[in-house]
Amino acid sequence: MAQLRRAPEIITIAKNLGLQGDDPVAAIMQHCRTRVESWLRAFKGPINLQRLHQVVADRLSIHHVVVSTDQELDDLITEYTRRGELIFRTLRDEFATGTQAITFKLTHPGLGARRHLAVIDGRRERAARVFFGKRHEDSHLLSLSPAQLSFVFRRTHATRANAEEALMDKIAGELAFYPPLFQPDLHQLQRRYGRPCFQLVDDLRDSVCPEASYIATAIAAVEQNETPALLVTARGSAKRGDSGTPPASWALRATSVKASAPAGRVGLMVPWNYRISPDSLIYRIFHDRFAARHDHADERLGTWASSDGSRLADLPVHVEVKKNDDHVLAMITLE
Ligand SMILES: [Zn+2]
Repeated sequence: MAQLRRAPEIITIAKNLGLQGDDPVAAIMQHCRTRVESWLRAFKGPINLQRLHQVVADRLSIHHVVVSTDQELDDLITEYTRRGELIFRTLRDEFATGTQAITFKLTHPGLGARRHLAVIDGRRERAARVFFGKRHEDSHLLSLSPAQLSFVFRRTHATRANAEEALMDKIAGELAFYPPLFQPDLHQLQRRYGRPCFQLVDDLRDSVCPEASYIATAIAAVEQNETPALLVTARGSAKRGDSGTPPASWALRATSVKASAPAGRVGLMVPWNYRISPDSLIYRIFHDRFAARHDHADERLGTWASSDGSRLADLPVHVEVKKNDDHVLAMITLE
């Protein structure tokens, strides 16, 4: 976050929007929130997450096109090149070289048609990113000044190398699971279980955000939770800087950790890349080929130790795990 605040491209976005203050990230996020809130206030009728996304797309005059197969991509290129949108001719090469989505300002929009077209590559392994990818492209338009909107052409790469893309992901995260709409549903559904769990993630996808991927929904359910909760992805990994073959520090580690705000307040935390305790169910299910793919246990976090001997706060926790091919997803809540 501190790095983002100082990134020149972020400071430029804030300046172009006429935003002041010493935290351009917070200012841009607030600017986007204010726009979305005003659109919601003007919207008549019942609102939910899906309708919010439609309202945002309407207001931004953006049309999302997801290509799911090579044939769909070819057809799209043929169609838009025929309409005089020559920029489409390079689309196949763009997608082949790391671009995941492109937003264009159409030079020849039809009468009443939307002015921007976001083409999102949803082929093969990119399918899981489509829901979030739409919000990411919306975020670009949402954070552009009117002057910049006149020449929109943006690529979003699969690897988020620069600060602007990282900021767009932050804005997209809020848009995708817009807290004023998502949180009430989350709390309502969670009452059945008393704590966040994987069944809750399924329930949310069934009734609140069917387009969202499993992992994106699980992250939102944890990050927006009112109870202390962590979502840990554990996979084989080495310490940063260990380039041995094989690396001496290779171990099952927490390669991604998402937390709710209350987790931090009670000291429930697992540092990034921390070694998973051999005493934890996470470790056992990862190493046991014959273990059930879904399990849970009550444990104490005090058994987690790093190589320098330090240990995690010894909290009693409930650990629910789901095993995937090369990683384990763990929901950790207070017991
Ligand atoms: Zn982007």
